[in-house]
Amino acid sequence: MSPLPPGSTIGILGGGQLGRMLSQAAARLGFDVCVFTDEPDSPAARVSAQAIGGSYLDHAALAEFARRVDVVTTEFENVPAETLEALAAAGARVAPNAQALAVAQDRLAEKSFFTQLAIATPPFAAVESQADLDKALKNIGAPAILKTRRLGYDGRGQIRIETPADAAHAYERLGAPGILEGFCAFEREVSIIAARGRDGQVAFFDLCENDHTGGILSRTQIPARAGADIEAAAQASARAVLEAFDYVGVLTIEFFLMPDGALVANEMAPRVHNSGHWSIEAALTSQFEQHIRAIAAWPLGPTTRICDAEMINLIGDDAGNWAAYAADPDARLHLYGKRDARAGRKMGHVTRLKR
Ligand code: AMP
Repeated sequence: MSPLPPGSTIGILGGGQLGRMLSQAAARLGFDVCVFTDEPDSPAARVSAQAIGGSYLDHAALAEFARRVDVVTTEFENVPAETLEALAAAGARVAPNAQALAVAQDRLAEKSFFTQLAIATPPFAAVESQADLDKALKNIGAPAILKTRRLGYDGRGQIRIETPADAAHAYERLGAPGILEGFCAFEREVSIIAARGRDGQVAFFDLCENDHTGGILSRTQIPARAGADIEAAAQASARAVLEAFDYVGVLTIEFFLMPDGALVANEMAPRVHNSGHWSIEAALTSQFEQHIRAIAAWPLGPTTRICDAEMINLIGDDAGNWAAYAADPDARLHLYGKRDARAGRKMGHVTRLKR
């Protein structure tokens, strides 16, 4: 594919804050963006040149979307397979590809895929029934975590099992199909954000260190407290995943860093990631620009970090403190334009530059 010239239109499936920041980065490079979302008044549509509102299963609307855009990308991984098939049938070029999205949608497929690539994961087993869960718990041991295979995010769709006596209750609440994972007593959580261009070029952002509160990312610090060997291992895993999928765009892998220095892969996101928001101010190219460059067949940009930084998510009512952040010269404030500050909802973030 030859580089898309400025003035081309990039299609984004999804209307959330990741789509919003992708759209802003695309605009900076001279592209127009058309957002396709089923969410009315979405954060992404409100900053984009065009938007189509509709169900992800509305083939006529998807065909119209495909007609308007030069390339399609996604800001969330749970795009239905039918949507991708309809877009392909309408002649759209979609990046990342359907295989990467399908694997990332299913925790069992994802962990099996990591295993095939010799990337360590927590011990895991498929759970289709209460009997499977009992057997898996015997093999893996407690504590463990029962997770839904699909549609879990930000700590939703998972229950910690402290002792075998908790198993029946956990299964009643989550049901099947699920996956049981051994609990990893990690030292910290880190993520690697990588990109692969249309020409196969690969680039990495510096390893991020992430704190979660109640399963939701609360803070990222950069650089991570991890040695060069650990960072190199994370990069090798990301490269293997990118190449296995013949991937185009940004991809993130979250790991547990164990006390002995081993990295254990928790999950991957076939997209830009919350732990990479610091790159907007603290790297020469942001993760959002990098993704747009990759899908537009432009050369990848330099990922050099300019300074140390921390990113703090503004969740629910936190965004009510916007005036204090706005008055702080070291805090770069981002608000996503969401109308309703529900508990647990990501409303914005602040990046503090440590200059
Ligand atoms: P997830 O939705 O799978 O990313 O899980 C959300 C958070 O739960 C992770 O960032 C971890 O803090 C924690 N967690 C998930 N799986 C495990 C595990 N197998 N062992 C320890 N902690 C976990």
